[in-house]
Amino acid sequence: MSEGILVLAERRDLRRRLFDVFDQAGYRHIHSARDAQHAAILMEGRPPLELMVAMLGSDAAQARQCCEQLRTLGAGGNVPLLAILDEEVPLQSAQLPDYVVGWLHAAQIETELLARWKHLPPAAQAAVSAQASGAAESALALLARIFATSGDVTRDATARLLFDELALDYFAVWPVHNDSHELQAPLLQLWNGEEPAWPQGDSQVLLRHVLGGEPVLYRSDARQRVPDDPLLSTLELSGFVGLPLLDERRVVLGAMLAGTRAGFGDMAIVEPLLRCAATRFAQGLELGLTREQGRAEGLLDALTGLPNRLLFGDRLESILREAVRNGECFAVLFVDIDHFKAINDTHGHAVGDHVLQEVTRRLRGSVRASDTVARYAGDEFTVVLRHIVKNEDVHRIAEKILQVIGEPLQLDNGTYLQVGVSIGVSFFPDDAADAETLLKHADEAMYAAKRQGRNTCRIYEVSPEYARQHGMALRSRLRHALGNGELRLVYQPQVGTDSEDIVGMEALLRWEHPELGPISPAVFVPLAEETGLIVPIGEWVLRTACRQAREWEQRYGLRLRLGVNLSALQLMEAKFPATVARALQETGLDPALLELEVTESISIKAAPNLVENLQALHRLGCGIAIDDFGTGAASLDYLRKLPANRIKVDQSFVRNIGVDPDDEAIVRATIEMAHRLNRTVVAEGVETEQHLAFLRAHDCNELQGYLFCRPLPVASFERLLAERQQLLGLSAAVTA
Ligand code: C2E
Ligand code: MG
Ligand code: MG
Repeated sequence: MSEGILVLAERRDLRRRLFDVFDQAGYRHIHSARDAQHAAILMEGRPPLELMVAMLGSDAAQARQCCEQLRTLGAGGNVPLLAILDEEVPLQSAQLPDYVVGWLHAAQIETELLARWKHLPPAAQAAVSAQASGAAESALALLARIFATSGDVTRDATARLLFDELALDYFAVWPVHNDSHELQAPLLQLWNGEEPAWPQGDSQVLLRHVLGGEPVLYRSDARQRVPDDPLLSTLELSGFVGLPLLDERRVVLGAMLAGTRAGFGDMAIVEPLLRCAATRFAQGLELGLTREQGRAEGLLDALTGLPNRLLFGDRLESILREAVRNGECFAVLFVDIDHFKAINDTHGHAVGDHVLQEVTRRLRGSVRASDTVARYAGDEFTVVLRHIVKNEDVHRIAEKILQVIGEPLQLDNGTYLQVGVSIGVSFFPDDAADAETLLKHADEAMYAAKRQGRNTCRIYEVSPEYARQHGMALRSRLRHALGNGELRLVYQPQVGTDSEDIVGMEALLRWEHPELGPISPAVFVPLAEETGLIVPIGEWVLRTACRQAREWEQRYGLRLRLGVNLSALQLMEAKFPATVARALQETGLDPALLELEVTESISIKAAPNLVENLQALHRLGCGIAIDDFGTGAASLDYLRKLPANRIKVDQSFVRNIGVDPDDEAIVRATIEMAHRLNRTVVAEGVETEQHLAFLRAHDCNELQGYLFCRPLPVASFERLLAERQQLLGLSAAVTA
């Protein structure tokens, strides 16, 4: 069985556009890769693909080489390859190797790609799959697509496929009752020509036979072999295939029947195709049964068929356990319909129900199959999005949900209704370590979205009010946090602007409050400073991060720079350089890899030992970065006086790129000034492609932000490094 689509493009925005086209059409297995090597790693050990789509560059030789590599990846040309070309350099299709079955321009991705694939010219199909098995493969792919898109079988699509492509004259799926084994009405029954007088299901000999669990296959002699089957005689079928639909334990759930008047052509093509269809129908029936069972056990919501609150709680717990094991990050969404009460009051409950069902359908259609959607209560839905590393991943899906749900909904009386939702998001493990707190935070964020005017999405943040209200309690609890092992570090990658490859990381502190869940350092670091606790905590951070960096250096052979944040209080202590020297010595980390981040708001005058200490750290061989640059008393003088190698442009400016020309000017000026003084520049809080394009155009050296990666727990960071290493190993092998 082939499954999955590979999209390949070096440019991230193109990759995303290609991905989105298939994602929006409901395909589940979409792999996206930068280049052929990357693709080879992704595809290792996976079943063959259905389709490959590759963006080819303007260099004809390179384009050919890429196609050649993809041909190998696609089992020697058995998987169709569609090329996307840059409009600026119109490569003629004739220049492409002949196993490229079609091409289009990048501008046509959204409008043409799906249609082009569905209607691959027959000549191209033949070129792709010269052998019979190849033809079966592509017909299988067709079938798989129909089932994959909707999960349900649409009559039209099935008829087109079966009657046009396979030349069938009859096709039916008959389920049986799971307890009584009585025949039910056919799920699907299609025939070619006039509607015949239907024989009763019970009188059909072949059907009963198949329901006994035995497949029957007659290429063209069905009527001779089973002369008394009324179906064969009514429809004058000569070729006939009947396959039992079996569940995992091989219990018969129903039968799938297919017949043809002219007899089947090559059984080597037809049989695997129909068997595959039978498997799909069996899965569909099994899913339906599981749903019914769930409903009977009170775990599914009767109106929408979604898991209810109880089942959702259970799912969330198991996702959480798995995430802890794999170091996976995921997001919880709270989705609440805006003004649902008013809809119910004005239009009545039947319309209310209709809205809930429609929102369910649209919600399910906006997420991946592996994501969980549940009806939490009334008009509240919850969603778990798995394998999330960037805010961007969630934003994209939330945007889609808002857009899809916002499309006008037709009521039975022909009028239209517009429905909006408010979405709140919390992240595991950033915002909470347990299911209950995660949900609570997502719920709070959802209310923030409502306050913001509804029909929008908000990500959870600890509110400053909350911190003020709980300041006292937090302060006393914080005293024990270090001793109780409630502190941990997460690491956020920094990437080179040109290579987009990882060059360093920043260690960021987290406090897992046993009742409140993780608390942001923006909230508790100031408290730790007030009480002086930041000094021992800071020392712990330094040692833990250095040890971790040294371990990764040894394990992955990567000399990543480690950024550690310092508080003014630490820097004022005369013995601080000695503390750093000891941490380096104990852990064996090269001082050149350690970069201490000093926030710009520390005033030189108010901090007695600041300049001396920084100079001493510099002499130790450590790097110094000025953090949050632009927010404090930014001055050339400050920069000149401190022995800093690097400047971190504060995220408040980066966020306003494309929004506020004044902030853009500050970013530009900061980069220029830093370069004049021979300092390098890192931009913080890079969240969008637009930020990236601007920073790249103005020669910012390095970047850090959710566009590339959120701060990651140790296990996730390791996975990132391991994947990178694997990729690099491969490209080294290819170039060698
Ligand atoms: P910072 O040093 O400026 O760290 C960057 C902050 O920006 C981090 O917040 C990080 O999670 C966040 N961030 C990264 N990329 C993005 C993005 O694309 N968008 C947005 N909106 N935010 C992004 P975090 O971890 O909450 O830390 C907040 C501040 O707390 C840090 O700001 C730093 O000043 C302080 N801090 C963190 N860890 C420590 C520590 O170990 N010691 C001390 N003294 N302060 C720390
Ligand atoms: Mg920092
Ligand atoms: Mg900063």
